Amino acid sequence: MSPLGNPRMLDFDRPEPVIMAGPCAVEDEDQITEAAELAARHGAQVLRGGAFKPRTSPYSFQGLGEPGLRLLRRAADRYHLLAVTEVLDPAQVEQVSRYADILQVGARSMQNFPLLRALGRSDRPVLLKRGLAATLDEWLMAAEHIRVAGNERIILCERGVRTFLDHTRFTLDVGAIPALKERTDAPIIVDPSHAAGKRNLVAPLALAGLAAGADGLLVEIHPRPEAALSDGAQALDADGFASLMAAVRTLCRNSAPGHSAPTASPCAVSRT
Ligand code: PEP
Ligand code: MN
Repeated sequence: MSPLGNPRMLDFDRPEPVIMAGPCAVEDEDQITEAAELAARHGAQVLRGGAFKPRTSPYSFQGLGEPGLRLLRRAADRYHLLAVTEVLDPAQVEQVSRYADILQVGARSMQNFPLLRALGRSDRPVLLKRGLAATLDEWLMAAEHIRVAGNERIILCERGVRTFLDHTRFTLDVGAIPALKERTDAPIIVDPSHAAGKRNLVAPLALAGLAAGADGLLVEIHPRPEAALSDGAQALDADGFASLMAAVRTLCRNSAPGHSAPTASPCAVSRT
């Protein structure tokens, strides 16, 4: 049993944050299985891992495709976790839904309207990442495209925006969290990994996000970050993830973070 709750439930009505953790990309069976073990051991509810990767360079690792989805599902099942992975194309929604419990829209796809509409016809919760330079209005309108097409199960994910600053990969917009809380009942999670770009900055950003009222985290972890095929510099290793999760528990115990669970969240998922 997870120290933060039932690991097979995605339930934003609990007072504790929902933790989604795993590698940037599914690389092979050992890597995703070890990442799943690590995620489960420290209390995550959801295993992440990309099989279809939106890479800036066409020469970078693009993901394993369907074999990656299969490995993600198997590792998640083995450790009683739910699975989240990215969908890049409307034509992939059905295929990815056969393996994943939550469908991720990456930052680069936030305004891919055919994709949003296809996800609106899905019965899976959609994790909608903020676009690289999207305003809150643009982000909420992207969510609205999913909602009006029929799917109200939307989780918003703040993952940093492009600014003039270069000490982090992107600038985590902590202020977006309380601002969104005034405008939507959708759960809001924070991805500190893509904002930080470097592992030493991941935990402070994660804790800042939770303190500002985020309902959960999406964190990149890897059993051997130095060997990662993508985003190794921002991946937490076993010790880094253990200490982040200890800090998350301390924060939840000792303070009353702004975390306010949405009432009757339509995003709840359970898998037996
Ligand atoms: C990811 O989470 O795998 C990812 C590609 O992130 P983003 O879309 O936020 O860049
Ligand atoms: Mn990544």
